[in-house]
Amino acid sequence: MSSAEICSRCVMDTSEKIIDFDENGHCCYCREAIKRLEAGEWNRHGEAELKAVFDRMKAECSGRKYDCIIGISGGVDSSYVAYIAHRYGVRMLGVHVDAGWNTPVSENNIRKLCEKYGVDLVVEKVPLDEMMDLQRAYFISGVPNQDVPQDHAFFAVLYRYAIEHGITWILEGRNFSSESILGRGLRFDPKDSVNLLDIHAKFGRIPLKKFPIMDEKTFYEDIPRKKQFQVFSPLDLIDYNKFEAIKILHADCGFEYYGGKHLESRFTKLYQNYILPQKFHCDKRRAHLSSLIVAGQLSREDALAELARPPYGDPAELEMDIRYFIDKVGLTREEFDRIMQEEPREHTDFKVNKYYRRSKLLKNPWVRFVLSVPGIGWGKRILKRWF
Ligand SMILES: [Zn+2]
Repeated sequence: MSSAEICSRCVMDTSEKIIDFDENGHCCYCREAIKRLEAGEWNRHGEAELKAVFDRMKAECSGRKYDCIIGISGGVDSSYVAYIAHRYGVRMLGVHVDAGWNTPVSENNIRKLCEKYGVDLVVEKVPLDEMMDLQRAYFISGVPNQDVPQDHAFFAVLYRYAIEHGITWILEGRNFSSESILGRGLRFDPKDSVNLLDIHAKFGRIPLKKFPIMDEKTFYEDIPRKKQFQVFSPLDLIDYNKFEAIKILHADCGFEYYGGKHLESRFTKLYQNYILPQKFHCDKRRAHLSSLIVAGQLSREDALAELARPPYGDPAELEMDIRYFIDKVGLTREEFDRIMQEEPREHTDFKVNKYYRRSKLLKNPWVRFVLSVPGIGWGKRILKRWF
């Protein structure tokens, strides 16, 4: 395999750590995505099912103030979910977590769409000093998922509000159309508070007192065991097309586009367009554009043309975004450049939650063999005690 092998159907390439190609030159990512598509994960004509789910949700929640909770980022996907749910008369509690990286455009989008679609909005401001200390710690640590601080805060706050308000339905903007392919090599679950706290313990400078953290047991054991939430992704039951959604939202509530997937956050913009490609040799546009190819919404030629353009077209804009970042987190330009040159680390170089350790262990063929032997309950008990 040459070092620059690229899929002949999508635009995933060997910059992904984990990738293989079949005899047609099709990569494992688009092969798997197409299988899921054929299995019905995305139903472009699912309006009847969409209505049925919303009707069930409204019936179940008829005596309550809200039918569901929705995380509002100011991005296209969650905004379009609010637009759709409003059309079906769903009463939404919107939660926005302000982690200090909002762009004025995304703040305007949030305000406009909540007004227009009757979303009751709560804005949770993460304490800025703690947030920036954590973000700085992540940057210094050199782990690949640097979006964890804002993503963890988002999940912790969303679930906390849902529990406090007795809300059982969560609306998500997750969708097959633009997210069917996600690179595997650099992902790490942002819900892992053990990893987050360990990274902060090693590189943070001030204690985290008010930063929203949800413990591992609540996320990985209590919530799944109680089955207290039904998570629903409406965009997988309609012919969702991001480009069309932007036009519709713009005409309907004045929504403005901010230029790329998840770029409604000023940190995510720098992270995806500079830190990830430079330090981790990963261009996240590949997975996103490949998803759109699988969805039939973009040609491979257009995706390649997009990738030929540098993520930051304008060096002055990059410089401005770097300055903004280092000023906020408290790094000098020399420290920033030095850390960018340092070897990346893995999340697993730090402590990870016990559920992650357990799931890794259970993938070991020897462990699976031992557990498969009948009457070996003691083996399971030992494993539980260890992990
Ligand atoms: Zn492919």
